[in-house]
Amino acid sequence: LAQDLRCDDNKGYIVVRVLFVLGVISIVVVVGIQNISRSRTFQIAGKLVHRVDTNQKLVALTFDDGPSEGYTQDILKTLDNFSVKATFFLVGGAMERNPHLAKLIVNSGHEIGNHSYSHQRMMFMAYDDIANELKKTHQLIDQAGYTGEIYFRPPYARKLLNLPLYLSRSHITSVTWDLEPETNPNLAKDRNLMIEHVVDNVRPGSIILMHIMFKARGESMEAIPGMIERLQGQGYQFVTVSELLAAGKSGV
Ligand SMILES: [Zn+2]
Repeated sequence: LAQDLRCDDNKGYIVVRVLFVLGVISIVVVVGIQNISRSRTFQIAGKLVHRVDTNQKLVALTFDDGPSEGYTQDILKTLDNFSVKATFFLVGGAMERNPHLAKLIVNSGHEIGNHSYSHQRMMFMAYDDIANELKKTHQLIDQAGYTGEIYFRPPYARKLLNLPLYLSRSHITSVTWDLEPETNPNLAKDRNLMIEHVVDNVRPGSIILMHIMFKARGESMEAIPGMIERLQGQGYQFVTVSELLAAGKSGV
């Protein structure tokens, strides 16, 4: 009898152990998928660039979302004051509502990228819906008169399987960033802290992400002149994403 009991105990112990291991595996898988889906530096298929490998003091300033009325004109004026060309990852829906603003950005000599049509998280989106999001926005960028290469930036940097697959098949390069001062809420509320963060962490080939198309991002908008001034003072030249990629040794 004693032996039978011990045997049952062992079985129970094994079941608990198996459940524990399965639980740990599921957690690891879920956390892994989450990390892969929001990685700035890794994508399962297709090319992703988060910075460029170069010895030249080049940096790309990129703006996400919009275009929205007023903020577009404001940022174009600031960029013009410093003779800086930037890259705008625009949302198709917003371009459709504000075609004049998209044209204004193009006519000012800046680069336009595709930031999807509806700005949803695209990790679990159906393949055909992804294709639609990108194609519609691509057409709107064409209609704005932009003729350069069109890069893609996933909303919230989220991508998993279908999106990388579509990008890879369509030979579209994803462009993320290596500097995002606004992501830290303590920095985002103070233009000077954002400027310091960028000045301290920039290196040749960096891609800076900023949001300036909304009222809530007033500090970001105010940070831009100082950011440009400080980096130009250090000998950095602002270029578009295309120009940065062309200067890169390996596009890593
Ligand atoms: Zn966005």
